[in-house]
Amino acid sequence: MKIAFIHPHLAEMRARDAMQPLGFALLAAKTPPNIELELFDDRVEPVDYETDADLIALSVQTFTAKRSYRIADRFRKRGVPVVMGGCHPTLLPEEAGRHADALVVGDGEMVWPGLLDDAAKGRMREIYSGDNAAPMKDLIPDRRIFDGKKYSPLIPIQFGRGCRYACDFCSIHSIYGNTLRHRDIDEIVRELDGIDGRLIFFVDDNLFMNQLETGRLLNAIAPLNKRWVGQVSVDSAWNDDLLDSMRKSGCAAVFVGFESLEERNLRQMNKKGNLRGREYSEAVKRFRDRGIMVVGSFLFGYDYDTTDTVRRALEFSLEQKLCLAHFNPLFPTPGTPLYDRLAAEKRLRFDRWWLSDEYRYGDALSGPAGMPPDELTEGCLRARKEFNTYSAFAKRALDFKANSRSGFSFGMYLIANLISRREIFRKQGIALG
Ligand code: SF4
Repeated sequence: MKIAFIHPHLAEMRARDAMQPLGFALLAAKTPPNIELELFDDRVEPVDYETDADLIALSVQTFTAKRSYRIADRFRKRGVPVVMGGCHPTLLPEEAGRHADALVVGDGEMVWPGLLDDAAKGRMREIYSGDNAAPMKDLIPDRRIFDGKKYSPLIPIQFGRGCRYACDFCSIHSIYGNTLRHRDIDEIVRELDGIDGRLIFFVDDNLFMNQLETGRLLNAIAPLNKRWVGQVSVDSAWNDDLLDSMRKSGCAAVFVGFESLEERNLRQMNKKGNLRGREYSEAVKRFRDRGIMVVGSFLFGYDYDTTDTVRRALEFSLEQKLCLAHFNPLFPTPGTPLYDRLAAEKRLRFDRWWLSDEYRYGDALSGPAGMPPDELTEGCLRARKEFNTYSAFAKRALDFKANSRSGFSFGMYLIANLISRREIFRKQGIALG
């Protein structure tokens, strides 16, 4: 039997910032050796619709759902069965089920071997439900499926799943509920030891969901001499021991969801980790004092947003010399409390925006009370442009504690800015699918 893994992109275009799709390497590690595997990553290469694979396995996110369904429909027309997994089928199994022969809902690794048995016998079930509370054991990925493909030098690795917060726009809670799990630290050390590359990306949505365990992890990986980046909640900046462990273990940059400078918005989005009454600028300083670059993310479209909140976020990002900053209109993900609220208030511009022919990437999907969505789209785009001018890039580089701390840091800062700038403007305004 031969299986083709497919990782779809937003539309027919290539990306320069694509990271290895870790989920497929985890499935590859759980696939018996007598089964042949191939991978088409739509972000870096064309999909071969004439492949002789006996089964297609698609990983589907909300932004890629439309294109995933098109790809799936083409294969199914040829009589090749399709299985789908990922966040989107987990949150909307009925919709995804119309384009697939089988769905994996929830974590895929544990149900994968059983699904392969059923596929070999030609009798796959409609739904395979992964146990999202099962211990995360034996999860060393098989990265050989990425050989020869052009990916970002950042190697993805996962410590845990789940988050102790429940921000209303985030799908993590809808998928994992209150469960917080992490892998065995020895297993992570073994995995890191086997990775040639030096630059690691912890893909956990919040690496500090359990600060005690993450502190242990960082102490264990410190001797490996890797450099890493990861996504953290802003409250990790208030823990000095943790910050010191980050520095000692090779942390080069953190992605921080600041989301808003307006406290009423933070309350509305239930962003509890950001509501500690301490300044964001102090958090940035504490990271920077350890040589750690900060990538900030802001979301707009909550009820207390105005053109002024977008401008303030831009000014903050420039003043703080953030390595990168993202200024995005809200994109309500189905299954989240935010989506349900906006749908109930009839404030979503499109029915199922991810399948809409009118929606364009980067467009606001819902305006704040009293602000038209088009104004929000324009405001976010303007902020992105101003943050990414060459003069802003040069001024932000004049941060000798983090962005230009060393040749390595400046190289990362430069490459991250060049790639990000290119990708932001290439994707803006494209039609999904
Ligand atoms: S802190 Fe981050 S990962 Fe956790 S719920 Fe909020 S947005 Fe999601």
